[in-house]
Amino acid sequence: MTQEFSYFAPGPAKIPEEVLRRLQEELLCHKDTHISVLEATEKTVRELLNVPSNYRVVFMQGGGTGQFAAVPLNLMARTGKADYFVTGSWSAKAAKEAAKYGQVTEVVPRGERYTGVPPTSTWTLDPQASYVYYCANETVEGVEFQSVPEVPEGVPLVCDMSSNFFTRPVDVSKFGVIYGGAQKNIGCAGVTLVIIREDLLGNPLPICPVVFDYTIMDKNKSLYNTPPTFPIHVMGEVLGWVRKEGGVQEMERRCLEKSSMIYSIVDTSGGFYSTVVEPGSRSRVNVVFRGLLSLKGHRSVGGVRASLYNALTVKDARRLANFMVSFKEQHG
Ligand code: PMP
Repeated sequence: MTQEFSYFAPGPAKIPEEVLRRLQEELLCHKDTHISVLEATEKTVRELLNVPSNYRVVFMQGGGTGQFAAVPLNLMARTGKADYFVTGSWSAKAAKEAAKYGQVTEVVPRGERYTGVPPTSTWTLDPQASYVYYCANETVEGVEFQSVPEVPEGVPLVCDMSSNFFTRPVDVSKFGVIYGGAQKNIGCAGVTLVIIREDLLGNPLPICPVVFDYTIMDKNKSLYNTPPTFPIHVMGEVLGWVRKEGGVQEMERRCLEKSSMIYSIVDTSGGFYSTVVEPGSRSRVNVVFRGLLSLKGHRSVGGVRASLYNALTVKDARRLANFMVSFKEQHG
């Protein structure tokens, strides 16, 4: 018998138990070829996000951090400059990496710490930028964009969805590139899912390494070099589970239910628990707050962080909520 436990880690994160059991069985009688694993996973990705036919789905390695370089290496050539929304630690790292390959401009004011997405009136977007970059969910600070930012016409929008991929419906047609590492909501570390609008292919910087070259990777159906077949297969299984559970609409509903449960305890605790994240930017997947000394937040922001990715059930969130209430009763 296995002991039931709730795992609130920021990533690598939990994989649905049902999927783990199936993988265990499949490891002993795996019949799929590499190619069919890639095709099957791509098909599920396309179906769940309604990916339009002029977008390519590519499986890459190097994680989210690899994409911090791959994005400018593939897209910076157009005008040599790019706009970055720096709203937390991950977009800050992405901007720093991109500055190696072109002129990077930060388009929102930076405060002393990251507490939310600054208001539209403060944005300074350049219609000549090669692309505009943002991180949909800042995993460390718990800051999430609640809608897709409006950018100047003709400037491709690039988004890091590493920590909230497949947790809500996405209108893919608004983006030039969307990417995310698998290890939080869609599987295990080792593969990065990249969705690219096809007209953005074909213009990498000459120094772009082939493993990061979207055009070469796409032309070779993600098989230019040996693909990480097992992580891609796990992604396919996790996404199959998402589909069976009701798709990204249902994941969105659950994320809201789980995160509101925790935020409402924080908000009604009379200051016992607190969060610095502005109400309009609160992440539905990484709830960052203060008040529990035993559940440590990221070392850079302190406090507590409960990560509530897709595999975390409403029951898991309820357990944490109940614990927070009784902890406050004992120590408040
Ligand atoms: N972007 C975001 C939003 C992340 O949360 C992370 C990882 N925690 C990364 C990028 C970096 O990803 P990786 O560790 O796969 O390089």
